[in-house]
Amino acid sequence: MMTQILIIEDEADIREILGFNIEDAGYKVLLAESAEQGLEMLTSDVSLILLDVMLPGMSGYQFAKKIRTDLHNTAPVIFLTARNTENDVLTGFSAGGDDYIAKPFSINEVLARIKAVLRRTADSSSQPDTIEFGELRIDFRNETATFSGSQLPLSRREFDLLALLARQPDTYFSRATIISELWRDAPYVLDRTIDVHIARIRAKLGDYHDLIKNKTGFGYYIDSDYASKE
Ligand code: CA
Repeated sequence: MMTQILIIEDEADIREILGFNIEDAGYKVLLAESAEQGLEMLTSDVSLILLDVMLPGMSGYQFAKKIRTDLHNTAPVIFLTARNTENDVLTGFSAGGDDYIAKPFSINEVLARIKAVLRRTADSSSQPDTIEFGELRIDFRNETATFSGSQLPLSRREFDLLALLARQPDTYFSRATIISELWRDAPYVLDRTIDVHIARIRAKLGDYHDLIKNKTGFGYYIDSDYASKE
């Protein structure tokens, strides 16, 4: 089945240019000239929504909020807008946007963003729900970690940090990478904070405290061979 893309744009010229080029790139295109019309056309078969922000009637942000909260639709959203101040970008992301393209844009840029967002969402949906390292089992869906069947009392940040390392075992995560992945909302986090969280996770891992290793100059990582060496 062809990947379906819903385009919601009130300016006819832009709508037609996007529709023509995106269809030409091999996607099935649905065109709507208002958020209200887009709501009627939206089905679970739509893989991505290109969404103009400034629309007559319901705005693009309102549309994005509505489909997430009322319809529980998870199709990625790329906002199209003439406004590109930082505040608008943040509003877009908090409204459930996955990316943001400022007008005027080139069609090549739009196609590249569509591909990138589709790749990213396909990757995350194909990730496993759980991963095990010997006695340690991490459940990404329920956001819990158990050791020999007992749930570990991890804080929110501790779980997120453990999950980050566990999704890509044997991969180094520098403190800067960990901060940018997990502490985006807190601009003043120090490297020391990461070390403290790692120490707390290690303490809670008990016998497996050495599962998380550090390579000086590279960063922290989960040693996938560790459990089998026990
Ligand atoms: Ca518009």
